[in-house]
Amino acid sequence: MANCKIKSLLFICFIALSAARPQKNSKSILNVGSKCGYASCPAVKPHMLNVHLVPHTHDDVGWLKTVDQYYYGSETLIQKAGVQYIIDSVVEQLLKDPNKRFIYVESAFFFKWWSEQTPEMQEEVKMLVDEGRLEFIGGAWSMNDEATTHYQSIIDQFTWGLRRLNDTFGECGRPRIGWQIDPFGHSREMASMFAQMGFDGLFFGRLDYQDKDERLMNKKGEMIWRASANLGEPAHLFTGVLYNQYQPPPGFCFDILCADEPIIDGKHSPDNNVKKRVDQFFEFVTNMSKSYRTKNVLITMGEDFHYQNANSWYKNLDKLIKYANERQINGSEINLLYSTPSCYLKSLHDAGITWPTKDDDFFPYASDPHAYWTGYFTSRPTLKRYERVGNQFLQVCKQLTSLAPRENPYFLPHLSFFRETMGIMQHHDAVTGTEKQKVAYDYARRLNVALRACGSNTKDILNHLTSGETPQTGIPDTKKHDYKFEFKTCDLLNISSCLISETSDRFILTLYNPLAHSTFEYVRVPVSTLDYIVKDYRDVTLETEILPIPETIQNITFRNSRAKYELIFLASELPPFGYKSYYIMKTNKHRLEPIPDADNLSSFVSIGNEKIRLTFDTNGFLSAITTKEMTRIVNQEFLYYEGAIGNNREFRNRSSGAYIFRPKTDNVKLVTTGPKIKVYRGNLVEEVHQIFNEWISQVVRVYRKHGYAEFEWMVGPIPIDDGVGKEIITRFNSDIQSEGIFYTDSNGREMLKRLRDHRDTWRVKLLEHTAGNYYPITTKIALEDENARLAILTDRAQGGSSMGDGSLELMIHRRLLHDDAFGVDESLNETAFGQGLVARGTHYLILGNSQLDQSPTTQLLERFTQLEKLLPTWKFFSDATNSSYDDWRLNYTNIFSGISLSLPRNIHIMSFEPWHENEILIRFEHILEKDEDPEYSKTVQFNLKDVLRGFNIVDIRETTLDGNAWLDDNRRMEFVPDPIEELYDNYALYYKSSDYVQLLRADKPLLDAKYFEELLPVDGLGAESNRLKREHGKNMELNRLRAEKLKKFKPSIANLPLQEDDDTKFIIELSPMEIHTYVLTLAKHI
Ligand SMILES: [Zn+2]
Repeated sequence: MANCKIKSLLFICFIALSAARPQKNSKSILNVGSKCGYASCPAVKPHMLNVHLVPHTHDDVGWLKTVDQYYYGSETLIQKAGVQYIIDSVVEQLLKDPNKRFIYVESAFFFKWWSEQTPEMQEEVKMLVDEGRLEFIGGAWSMNDEATTHYQSIIDQFTWGLRRLNDTFGECGRPRIGWQIDPFGHSREMASMFAQMGFDGLFFGRLDYQDKDERLMNKKGEMIWRASANLGEPAHLFTGVLYNQYQPPPGFCFDILCADEPIIDGKHSPDNNVKKRVDQFFEFVTNMSKSYRTKNVLITMGEDFHYQNANSWYKNLDKLIKYANERQINGSEINLLYSTPSCYLKSLHDAGITWPTKDDDFFPYASDPHAYWTGYFTSRPTLKRYERVGNQFLQVCKQLTSLAPRENPYFLPHLSFFRETMGIMQHHDAVTGTEKQKVAYDYARRLNVALRACGSNTKDILNHLTSGETPQTGIPDTKKHDYKFEFKTCDLLNISSCLISETSDRFILTLYNPLAHSTFEYVRVPVSTLDYIVKDYRDVTLETEILPIPETIQNITFRNSRAKYELIFLASELPPFGYKSYYIMKTNKHRLEPIPDADNLSSFVSIGNEKIRLTFDTNGFLSAITTKEMTRIVNQEFLYYEGAIGNNREFRNRSSGAYIFRPKTDNVKLVTTGPKIKVYRGNLVEEVHQIFNEWISQVVRVYRKHGYAEFEWMVGPIPIDDGVGKEIITRFNSDIQSEGIFYTDSNGREMLKRLRDHRDTWRVKLLEHTAGNYYPITTKIALEDENARLAILTDRAQGGSSMGDGSLELMIHRRLLHDDAFGVDESLNETAFGQGLVARGTHYLILGNSQLDQSPTTQLLERFTQLEKLLPTWKFFSDATNSSYDDWRLNYTNIFSGISLSLPRNIHIMSFEPWHENEILIRFEHILEKDEDPEYSKTVQFNLKDVLRGFNIVDIRETTLDGNAWLDDNRRMEFVPDPIEELYDNYALYYKSSDYVQLLRADKPLLDAKYFEELLPVDGLGAESNRLKREHGKNMELNRLRAEKLKKFKPSIANLPLQEDDDTKFIIELSPMEIHTYVLTLAKHI
């Protein structure tokens, strides 16, 4: 922390230092003198229309240019945008004038800029933040997409962005407002997470144009979003729809990138336009105010990469404010002011009125009748998969770094770099696939570097752990390293290739299990010959199987591999948060070449086990599935839509592209009338290898112990020689009577009910039948009738729908030849190695009864499988040429668990990562929704100390979801719902009076709330300060009270046995879908 050199800043520095992060045992520090946040809001005029001008810039963390090109401002011919200049310029302007305000969103850019500043400049910026003149909004590493992102990654990137803000600016750096102005539709889970992170409100710009019209017409653009079906009020979030997306009013763009007229106020200038311009502005805001409930409107004054010359904006805004407000003398009731979204929100709160509510989500987003933004749910399928792999390894790296026996100075920089890279990947033009091709390459390259950086952590740590050192975080590593084992990651396992396993006669496979319960997994290792044995650490030789790698994989032109087979074995009892290693070696025992079944192809073929059996018809298609309880017709096929082609000049001439899914017609084309199949049956797995055509193949398999089936598809290169872009889907048709209803997940978490051709809050008119029924599938899509339920789990984000009863489809790959005219200016025509991109992935199919009264339910199996597919074991390979089996077995620790209790399968430790010095951030999560299973949906209690016996924990305290504020310090603004719920019944019926808006207390003074003297009562309507810290005793006392409260057991609780009556036990109670986040402080090593 830099010294505070300027005398007048001393006090502010003190605040920033003291409140920099949740303090454990320190006394609370009142922010007296610090004027950030709501306390810093400019006064509004209660009887006037207050126009909150919000200067802002929207800085994409990569889109048409790479992250660095945007930061440094290179490649100006592509886009004139340089973020470093923006922040320079804005800060200069803010320092000149205390009335000016600015909000900043993307921590990825801000901290790059921050690191380049002098200590003096940093102090000046801290002052701006402390005075609320520069306010952080959103604050995550990037403004993440909401359709294709997994909740784990969203939480991670908020955790890191807010952590950096907290470390640097303390309380005043903490954002209170979610600012998702550009993402293409909005998920309910995102709103729920914002609420759980302690945010007071959310503003966004993009929602379906019909929904927006309807909402603005009915004054329902601002609402209370009840964002969880499980969590109740803690997941309610005030949400506002911005009037003009995030642009300034037409004609009022004062950036150097714009061509609008400045305010010309030369007294005698023939061009003087003051009257005209103020009139125009008043007309706009007066109209706008008719769509909102209070005497406040928020005007976004900025756009993509604006404020490179902030003076150009501010100079004109100054004039606009001056000339507009001068009219008040003559009776004008319009008041303009520099403001921020949080000050606007405070005004709404202070208005003391009620608000409509919202229970569903804002997907899909349509910007016109033919532009459904549902293509990006699938665009760039391999980048979407790589991002998910990144998440998996980030969790592994975080865990192992926390478990490291010795600390190495490069661990944390590597981990931070990985966190930041994954933050960038969540950006709404990164994982979405809506960036230019070379930017997509840049993202992939960054992720690859980050994976390798953390790979050096895991190599070091695993070498220490295997040589028998126990985790004692904090001991510095002073050894010079000559690592015994490589613990290498094979990046190309997705095309069944791995240099070590296919070239070494002896190698070690170490499976790291990032789950908090022990698990088992069928492992596949690419090998070049038939004769291998697999031995574990107890001298037991495992049962193995060899199957050929499908020819379609072997024939991939760019695959440079000797592996022709996969060696398969069952790795069982894999310890939680730990690893188990296997020694694999060539033998001279001769194994026979695996040969496909000599099935009579004129009869039906079936594969499976006693839990699930799949039948294929004589044409080679899946035709039925049998479980213990039922046989249902289920077939599966690959089809494609032809992408629409148009010049984009009018709505109806819209092309299908990176953002937009727009098929030429709703008719899908079948890729084949009959796939060629081969059937392999072994003891561990049964497989059907299907070849549909020259560019689509698939392996359908059922492992002996699994209750579900895998469909491992490979698509590409998608042919375009006919000049037609194609959007490939896999479709499962069943006889389940779903009556138009299906279910899709929200960021991998809670499920949402969908009804074909329907929206919950308005009567939708669909001119794009297929595209308008597509929803984002982050992990799961399902449908059911009263007897049966069918679910498909995905390994990456995809678009999906149910276009007919009993039918589920997922779009797995797209190759298009035209741009859709939303800025990217390229067609989504991905190539690799000189041909169309090949993508390989897996769907997991679960079929079962739809009853919920008997455990285990089908939904329970889905939840367990979802988690196991998100975080399977990470496979580390080490050559063992120089280490005999006995040497390996006798001299190394080949099984290890970092925790002392295997948690039940419905409880997940979502995060386990190094935090501040001697601290670990840990998140526990209940992965079921209520009523999904009569047993596993119960509330669970356990003693945290039973889980972490190996750690010397001296303090535990719960935080908000993002890990950066103490939960018991956190206060959120409360908003009151409308007393009557109005239903939207007709999109065509426009005007409705807003009489139902009830003023709760008309006499309530609007502006006299006190902010930094005392805490206002929580139940009062007055805006309370979120900046206040409550006085409280030591944490142990809080914990004791908490434990007592928890002792009152509820009947629905499933308890884990407490190991002993321990005074220091720390009971954690988790109800369905709850996530609890804690900071653990560990004893210091001396
Ligand atoms: Zn954007």
